[in-house]
Amino acid sequence: MENIFKDRPERFCKHCKKCGENCNFINNFYEKPPEDCGFEGWFFLEWEKYKQNIRKLKERLLVLNVQLKNCKDAKKATKLASDLQKTTNKIESYKNIGPTDL
Ligand SMILES: [Zn+2]
Repeated sequence: MENIFKDRPERFCKHCKKCGENCNFINNFYEKPPEDCGFEGWFFLEWEKYKQNIRKLKERLLVLNVQLKNCKDAKKATKLASDLQKTTNKIESYKNIGPTDL
């Protein structure tokens, strides 16, 4: 997964003095930017994208679970189980940057 926090556009905030390079602010979605920080808008948009990604993955998980439950074909079931595991892992990997119990 690309690190949106590491690659964030620095130009958005040069005034609040709380979100600079040596500061730990805004390295994940567990925290919020400081007040009056220029990254607030950027953070909001990224947070919305993040939530959408998580929801899509969870939807996929639901669909795969149902398909697997109804699957009679062993070969297809193996493929579904593999997809299910991959999707679960992907959701798990998001925990590095934010909550996944949305
Ligand atoms: Zn700032």
